[in-house]
Amino acid sequence: MIFLLPVQASQSIENSFAVEPFNTRYLQETERTVLHPNQALKDVRSKGARSQSDILNFGLGAPPVWVHFEVSNYSETKQLRYIQLENTWLDHVHLYIFKDGQMLQKEIAGDAILFEKNRTSRFFSFPYNFQPGDTSVLIRIETPEPQLLPLFVLTEQDMLDRKIKSGYEYGIIYGFLTALLIYNVLLYFSLRSRRYLFYSLYLASFIILNMAYTGHALKWIWPNWPEFQNQIIPPMMMLFAYLGILFCREFLSLPERFPRINTSFNLLSAFMLCSVIWYVLSGNYLAMLVTAFISVIPFALLMISAGVVACYEGVKEAKYFLGAAIFAMISAIVTAFTVSGIVEYQPFGFHAVEYGILIEAVLFALALAYQFRISQAEKIEAQRLADRDQLTGLYNRRGFQKVIEPIYSNATRNNRNICVMLMDIDRFKDINDNFGHSFGDLVLLDLSGLLMRELRAGDIIARWGGEEFILVLPETQHDEAITLAERLIGVVSNQVVQQQQTEVQYTVSIGISEMKDPIDSISTLIDNADHYLYKAKAAGRNRVAYQVDQNCELDS
Ligand code: GH3
Ligand code: MG
Ligand code: MG
Repeated sequence: MIFLLPVQASQSIENSFAVEPFNTRYLQETERTVLHPNQALKDVRSKGARSQSDILNFGLGAPPVWVHFEVSNYSETKQLRYIQLENTWLDHVHLYIFKDGQMLQKEIAGDAILFEKNRTSRFFSFPYNFQPGDTSVLIRIETPEPQLLPLFVLTEQDMLDRKIKSGYEYGIIYGFLTALLIYNVLLYFSLRSRRYLFYSLYLASFIILNMAYTGHALKWIWPNWPEFQNQIIPPMMMLFAYLGILFCREFLSLPERFPRINTSFNLLSAFMLCSVIWYVLSGNYLAMLVTAFISVIPFALLMISAGVVACYEGVKEAKYFLGAAIFAMISAIVTAFTVSGIVEYQPFGFHAVEYGILIEAVLFALALAYQFRISQAEKIEAQRLADRDQLTGLYNRRGFQKVIEPIYSNATRNNRNICVMLMDIDRFKDINDNFGHSFGDLVLLDLSGLLMRELRAGDIIARWGGEEFILVLPETQHDEAITLAERLIGVVSNQVVQQQQTEVQYTVSIGISEMKDPIDSISTLIDNADHYLYKAKAAGRNRVAYQVDQNCELDS
C-alpha cells in the first residue's frame, strides 16, 4: 500500500498506521529567513499552506521549501517505514523527525553529497522506526532544479516492489535503446553513412540524459562525482537536442533541400551553445537550466516543421521522420512541462519522453531502412541505365559485354551454334544532313523498335555505335541467320519514317559471322561480322554478306 502525500485521503495499513495527509503543509522560505528546524516546525504548522495537489511541484529556481506532515502509529510496537522522495536531482534534502516537540532524528541528503553516504536507492529514501503514537516529519528542500516532490511513506515490501518494478521498466527501455544503438553503430561502420552515426549519438545522448535525471547514472556510473551529477543534466538536454538536429539535417539533407529550416536550427544550436558558455563564464546555473527547458519547445517545433515541409515537398522517407518526430517531440514537451511544474504531475507525464523515444526509435529505424531501400533501388536503376543506350533503350557496348559473356561461354561449353550480325544503316549521314539530326534519331528509334519486334526472346540486340547495331543469335545455324537477315533487309526497306510532312525510307546492310570453332572468341566473331558488313557496303549496300565456304564470299 502506498500513501500518496499530501492530499489523498488518510488510509491505514493493518489499521495500525496512518499518515495524516490533511495536516500536510508547506512553507516557502523568503530570503531573509533562514529557519531553525524547531522554528520552522512551528511556522509551517501555523502559517504553512495546505497543498492543493497530490504531488507538490514548485518548479524551476523556487526558494527553499519546508514540508511537514504527521504520522500516527496506532500499534503498540515500533513500525519501520520508508519516507521516500522519488526525485533524484534535489541538491539539499534535510529531514527532521519530531515527537512531542523534541527533535529525535536528523538526516542530510542531496545530490551535492557523495552517493553511498546517504542513498540506498536512486531516490531519497529515509528508513525510520516510528514509535507508537504521533510523529511529525519535517523536510527542507533546496535546489535550483525543478522542485518536484513525489513523496511516499512506504513499508519495506512496498519500497522493494517499487524498486523491482522500475528495475524491469528501465531494463526494457535501456536494453531496447542499447541494442538499437549498437545496431546503428555497426551499420555506420559497414555502410559509412553519417546518418547512422548521428542517430547512434542521438540515442546514446538520450540514454545518458535519462540515466542522469533518473539517478541511475549517479548510482551505477558516476557515484563519486556528485558535482558532475549536479550540473550535467541541462548541458545533456541541449546536447541531446543538438544531436537530434544533426541527425535531422543529415537525414532530410536540410542544407541542400530546406536551407531556411537549416538556418533556424543553426540559430537554435548557437543559442544553446551561448547559454552553456555563459554558464561556464558566469556560473549562472539557473540561466542554463531555464534555457535548456525553454529550448525544448523550438527544438520540437523545428523538428516537426522539418518533417512537415519534407513530406509536403514529396521527400519519400519524410513520413516516417514526421511520425517519429511528432511522438518524440510531443512527449519531450510533456515531460519537460511536467518536470518544470507547468502542468500537474502525473506519472505518465513524467515518463512520457521515455515512451516517446521508444516509438521514435522504432519509426526512425524503419525510416533508415526505408531510405536504405530507396538508395539501393536508385543504385540498381543507375546501374541499369549505365548499361543502356539512352536513345533506344537497347544495351550499349558496356551492357552488351556484360550479357554476352555467360551466353557465349554456355554456347562454347555445350558445343552450340551461335551467329553474330552487324547491321549498319546505309547513308545515314545523308538522312541527318537532309532532314536534321532529330529526324536521324527517329530513324534509329524506328530501327531499334523493328529489331525488338522481329527477333526472338533469347537473341541479344545492342547499339554497337552511331548507326550500327549488333545482334547475337544463340542456338542458330548459319543458314537460319542468313534467312533472318534477308527478311530483315526486306522489312526495313518497307519501313516509312514520318514526321509532319517528311516521309523517309531507309535501308541497312548486314554482315554475318558464325562460330566455327569453339575456341573462337566473341571478338573474333564480331571482327568477322564487321568484315562481311564492309563487304556488303562495298557491294552496293541494302544487302547481306557472309561466308559461303572456306574460299568464297557472297552477298545477296
Ligand atoms: P554508310 O552507308 O557507309 O554507312 O554511310 P553512313 O552515312 O551511314 O556512314 P557514316 O559513318 O559516314 O555516318 C554515320 C553518321 O551517323 C554520322 C553521325 O553523325 C551519325 N550519327 C551517329 N550517332 C548518331 C545519333 O545518335 N543520332 C543521329 N541522328 N545521328 C548519329
Ligand atoms: Mg542537483
Ligand atoms: Mg552507315
